Amino acid sequence: MRTSQLLIPTLREDPGEAEVVSHRLMLRAGLIRKVAAGVYAYLPLGLRVIRKVERIIREEMDRAGAQELLMPIASPAELWRETGRWDFYGKELFRIKDRHERDFCLGPTHEEVITDLIRRDVRSYRQLPLNCYQIQTKFRDEVRPRFGLMRGREFIMKDAYSFDRDEEGAKLSYQKMYDAYQRIFTRCGLTFRAVEADTGLIGGSSSHEFMVLAETGEETIVYDEEGTYAANVERAEALPPAGTSTETTRPLRKVPTPGARTVEEVVAFLKTTPQRLVKTLLYKTPSETVAVLVRGDHEVNETKVKKLLGLTDLNLADAETVAALTGAPIGFAGPIGLRHTRIIADHAVTGLRNVVVGGNQADTHYVDANLDRDFSISQFADLRNARAGDPSPRGGGRLRATRGIEVGHVFMLGTKYSQAMGAKFLDPQGQERLAVMGCYGIGVGRTAAAAIEQHHDAKGIIWPAQIAPFHIHLLSLSQSAEVSKAARALYDSLIETGLEVLWDDRDERAGVKFNDADLIGAPYQVLIGDKGLAQGTVELKERKTGEVKRLPPGQLPQHAKTLLRQEIRVT
Ligand code: ATP
Ligand code: MG
Repeated sequence: MRTSQLLIPTLREDPGEAEVVSHRLMLRAGLIRKVAAGVYAYLPLGLRVIRKVERIIREEMDRAGAQELLMPIASPAELWRETGRWDFYGKELFRIKDRHERDFCLGPTHEEVITDLIRRDVRSYRQLPLNCYQIQTKFRDEVRPRFGLMRGREFIMKDAYSFDRDEEGAKLSYQKMYDAYQRIFTRCGLTFRAVEADTGLIGGSSSHEFMVLAETGEETIVYDEEGTYAANVERAEALPPAGTSTETTRPLRKVPTPGARTVEEVVAFLKTTPQRLVKTLLYKTPSETVAVLVRGDHEVNETKVKKLLGLTDLNLADAETVAALTGAPIGFAGPIGLRHTRIIADHAVTGLRNVVVGGNQADTHYVDANLDRDFSISQFADLRNARAGDPSPRGGGRLRATRGIEVGHVFMLGTKYSQAMGAKFLDPQGQERLAVMGCYGIGVGRTAAAAIEQHHDAKGIIWPAQIAPFHIHLLSLSQSAEVSKAARALYDSLIETGLEVLWDDRDERAGVKFNDADLIGAPYQVLIGDKGLAQGTVELKERKTGEVKRLPPGQLPQHAKTLLRQEIRVT
């Protein structure tokens, strides 16, 4: 294609709104434009990348035995009421009403719709297993849409749903998808890791997330030195510490700690360590107030707390509630004498002696507080974030931590949806059974964005060849008749060879073209100038390394094809 005929509005300056490099470069390279918060238009170059990612996904889904279908974006509330998710999904669900005041939503995911289809048309074990997928626009009214395509409110997702006769079959389907995801993200040129994950709003028994490793990732993952364990920190198990303190207990004292609220402030004031302090966080649930205790150097894991309490939503108590319960402003809550509150604690609190806790009074803490003597706990559980240095829960040495971008997620759903919606089939004995399900998502735009996070430099994007908008960016460096003629001929022969070529045929200075080509990031650039032509050569430049080869134009297409063939299938 020719630049002069395409909408590629590159920007010289960094757009102010972009916080991460992929968002910035997608805007600057003219891939996307924002229409509303979290809602983007894909311009021609952006759409080409999206289509490439989709093609890889399709090929691998088909290869794994899944079949493509397409469900509607709008779905009636009745289906969502059957599973309880009409209420449960909360504000993230885009809700609309038709002219008859009937409720619909714009699908954030499609378990309900697919389960409805399957229950209507699948009757016999002979029709199972089945795995259906679609690539479609999803809607989620995210609290904080940001980072461009990474967290949109409208975004393209591949979602697949498997239906099996039994648990064993479901495990097999899950494994096939897991393997397909490994191939997909490898083919997209990504460095990633599959980690154990929480099942969140979708529900189900077990799941893995596919994390692209990147500093800008919103997720923290931990993994052990020996490669036996990797998990999202939301989910990662933290082992209880070995042993208990053997210190003799000292008498409880109440001490003034003027203005010291945070762990750092209290520890500095009392000249102690965070390990000798117990933090008390007050949460308000629909039915009660819950105090969660963790050691001063640990962080509460709200996902674990929610799971323990059977809640989907968890909010810290507001200042008013805190004042009513503790008689103090936020920052001085503690378990001693705390009334009308259920107190739960992380395992690491069990073995401590002589700790510092909040005094339930402004500017006051207790020191040398001791469990059972001074306060009691109704339940101990794993309630904290695992962190680097912790022992691996699978015995594989110590944990390390890194950041990741979740590009894909596979879930074992069990019979959660088939039960709620009555998706049954007859087994060989004529017995009715519930289909055992799995579901599998990939964020298409997020995958493209993640690729940029991993592949860029100061000048712009460096696309992995497999998902590059074009394989070759052809630059004619002057408007002379010779250059134009040679460029046209080379453009035609490159295309004939099966390569995808963007030809910068604009009447622009060479410098402008170089900058745009580096920004847009095709894996190879071909430079045609008067000087080279006079010596019978053109230049082939690799975007990643900047390495330049001079070749006669006649040899270039085959040479480029050979180089690219190592990375992609070029027909
Ligand atoms: P997150 O924790 O990032 O919100 P999720 O767990 O809600 O993701 P899933 O429901 O598992 O996501 O959706 C499947 C895939 O869809 C995710 O792995 C991700 O790649 C993509 N995805 C989810 N939400 C968004 C979004 N708001 N914008 C772009 N892609 C998204
Ligand atoms: Mg989400």
